[in-house]
Amino acid sequence: MQRITILGATGSIGVSTLDVLARHPDKYSVYALSAHSRIDELAAQCEVFRPQRAVVADAEGAARLAALLRARGVHTEVEYGEVALRAIASSPDTDTVMAAIVGAAGLGPAMAAAAAGKKVLLANKEALVMSGQLFMDAVANNKATLLPIDSEHNAIFQCLPAHYGRSPEAAGVEKILLTASGGPFLNRAVETLGDVTPEQACKHPNWSMGRKISVDSATMMNKGLEVIEAHWLFGAPAERIEVVIHPQSVIHSMVSYNDGSVLAELGNPDMRTPIAHALAYPERIASGVAQLDLTRIGTLQFYQPDFERFPCLALAFDALRAGGTAPAVLNAANEIAVQAFLDRQIGFRDIDRVVARAMDDVSNTGAVSIDDVLAQDSLARESAARTVARLAR
Ligand code: NDP
Ligand code: MG
Repeated sequence: MQRITILGATGSIGVSTLDVLARHPDKYSVYALSAHSRIDELAAQCEVFRPQRAVVADAEGAARLAALLRARGVHTEVEYGEVALRAIASSPDTDTVMAAIVGAAGLGPAMAAAAAGKKVLLANKEALVMSGQLFMDAVANNKATLLPIDSEHNAIFQCLPAHYGRSPEAAGVEKILLTASGGPFLNRAVETLGDVTPEQACKHPNWSMGRKISVDSATMMNKGLEVIEAHWLFGAPAERIEVVIHPQSVIHSMVSYNDGSVLAELGNPDMRTPIAHALAYPERIASGVAQLDLTRIGTLQFYQPDFERFPCLALAFDALRAGGTAPAVLNAANEIAVQAFLDRQIGFRDIDRVVARAMDDVSNTGAVSIDDVLAQDSLARESAARTVARLAR
């Protein structure tokens, strides 16, 4: 029995994870679940999966959850706050931690899981973007196992040799080809992008996801964050990572080798595939995802990305090349900008302006410790809030 903790159980990835776990009660038990605001959903999950512990944001949420569970006769222990999140991620009673909190809030608990030597299933790409070196060091120094959930990185992981030593050259890897759907605005006239609404931006053509990552997909900041994520996961410099637009999202990414071979992982766009892969690795389990029918799809298309249409992608490559705290600044400013866009304070085209301004404003101090990262993260949030206030309509 693998005992699982899900950080961010009420989110899109959390719900998909529980869906896979429910298919294999003989293999997995749920040790702990966390949520932030969706208390009713968490109560319903606790009733079905009976975890030992559940963690929410604050005392008020904890009191509400405890009352709901009492009324249903569920004996889950209820806790709240960051310390409790770290505790369920590092407890000796859990083997595997699904890190699926959105944004920088996920860094601390994901790091706690790595430091405790857990099997870490990483969906929270922001943790690697903010502090890639520190995170990879925590994994290596504590003999944690890191398995990527992001569909592209899970695909790349599957296309690399089993004993890949984090060196593309040694493995004969020429390039990592990160596929991108291009999001809902791939073909929309650029001059009309200023007018798009949060609802339009969140309507992804192929994937159903949380709101923040959906906006990131529309700006292609998501692909930018994934380039940085790939750099840390696979030890690849920026020159060896190429973004390829592939609107059908059937190929989830590829690895191109020096002998001319290109390996790809294909499947229907459903996050339960990478989740099941990582849960069972190195074995395979059923995920509930329908088998791919290529004859029904018929056509696969590929294009180069347009960096002028998607300036966030260029900003992310800049941040990766700059290194140090630059990716943390990019990520923090983007979180503020995306929230301001979702709150209708700024327009879609303002998101990259807010991020570019923060990258100019905040100095790169080098990410030597988590404190360095968090200090520049705060400065970036302040800069972004100032730009949002100036642009707010
Ligand atoms: P959602 O917004 O759907 O879910 C986020 C989860 O995190 C929810 O459980 C939410 O709780 C919780 N949460 C939100 N804010 C906080 C906070 N401040 N502290 C603690 N918990 C918090 O996001 P997704 O599931 O879409 O994404 C999760 C992560 O996975 C992101 O990093 C994303 O980039 C990554 N990812 C997602 C993919 C997808 O298909 N969705 C694909 C690849 C990567 P509550 O709902 O109760 O408020
Ligand atoms: Mg992805």
